[in-house]
Amino acid sequence: RLGRRAEEMSLKAYVVGGFVRDLLLGKENQDLDIVIEGDALSFIKSWEADGCRVAVHERYRTGTIVFPGGRKIDVATARREFYEYPVALPKVVGDSLKHDLYRRDFTVNSMAISINGTSWGTLIDYFGGRRDLQKRQLRVLHNLSFVEDPTRVLRGLRLKHRLGFEFEDNTVRLIKSAIKGGLLALLSGTRVKNELKLIFLEERAYPIVLEMVHLGIFEALFPGIKIDRNCLRVIRRLSFFLRRIHYDLPDMGDKVWLAFLAAVLFSSAEWVQEATIDKLHLSKPDREAVERALNDLGTAENAVGGRVIRSHEEIYFFLEDVPYVTALFWAAATEQWRVRRRILLFLTRLHRIHPILMGRDLIELGYPKGALIGKILDELLRARLRGEVETREDEIRWIKK
Ligand code: ATP
Repeated sequence: RLGRRAEEMSLKAYVVGGFVRDLLLGKENQDLDIVIEGDALSFIKSWEADGCRVAVHERYRTGTIVFPGGRKIDVATARREFYEYPVALPKVVGDSLKHDLYRRDFTVNSMAISINGTSWGTLIDYFGGRRDLQKRQLRVLHNLSFVEDPTRVLRGLRLKHRLGFEFEDNTVRLIKSAIKGGLLALLSGTRVKNELKLIFLEERAYPIVLEMVHLGIFEALFPGIKIDRNCLRVIRRLSFFLRRIHYDLPDMGDKVWLAFLAAVLFSSAEWVQEATIDKLHLSKPDREAVERALNDLGTAENAVGGRVIRSHEEIYFFLEDVPYVTALFWAAATEQWRVRRRILLFLTRLHRIHPILMGRDLIELGYPKGALIGKILDELLRARLRGEVETREDEIRWIKK
């Protein structure tokens, strides 16, 4: 349908980037990126009449189409970018597909497939992307690639580990000299944050972090940072928890990356921790979650650790106000197995516990609206944590008693 529409509007349309790469690798990829030679904006807007939601970015001549079923497609005008100085936001002037593909990060991401006209289905590969896919290697398109955009170093590492590829020799040299030349330090905090987040949210984040450490990327990004074996141990444990008990954990969404950030900062001096958090422009709650993770590990160990038996009630009420990612970090960072076990007990089971009866049930049972109801529910929760009630009837009996 997209191709036909482009045809009707006398535009040329191509699928580009990660989708083409994954298609050739036989891997699933839901992110469809379309490039239009001509004006993408009129193409995007034309879908409104079909009941799609559309959003456009006039300045960049890009936008998205959301189809009624929820499928989202990004559409861009084939463009050439001029970087006025490294790491600036690019200016856009209209140009052809080849230029558009030339400004991409790696050859394997710089292929396109035509989706309209007589050329439908033709692979367009100006820079040897298919050969590099076969060789399972990541290669930049030109020697200034990392100067134009140093985030490509981080994107490259993420992609390399996800696909199990290697960097081609010249690309390795360019990465090392970009790091040595201080290019990563020029990136804005927001761009670094976005890339770090994507890395930490990868299914296998640990090997990526390990390679980043070996390449000296963290020092290049955050001067003074100290990443030692303790940090790595915490990161390994976090990855392990997320792989092994993911489905039992509360849904933390993409906030999980904050636990990794705390782990990376675990052994650094306080001023480095603060400077890094400042640089990344974390929101207030995110900042608090990381600071609490780093500052209150000892408090958590005192509150739920030790040989004494800790009741479920005690564990629950210490952790109930703690952000889940903070608790997750403590579970990974502590060297006390009892602390780890108890925090994981909270994160996998206790956090879900609540009374079956709700406020309106109590009103139906004749209790007056107001503070009393909150108090009863709180006591019911405690009774449930002590294992004194199981069913709804148990709860009613318990209240009456
Ligand atoms: P992912 O699975 O992580 O989404 P992707 O390759 O689809 O991988 P996107 O971030 O969706 O990545 O980007 C889409 C395409 O845009 C990439 O395939 C690449 O061609 C290009 N691209 C993205 N970021 C950059 C960049 N910083 N420099 C050059 N090209 C980029």
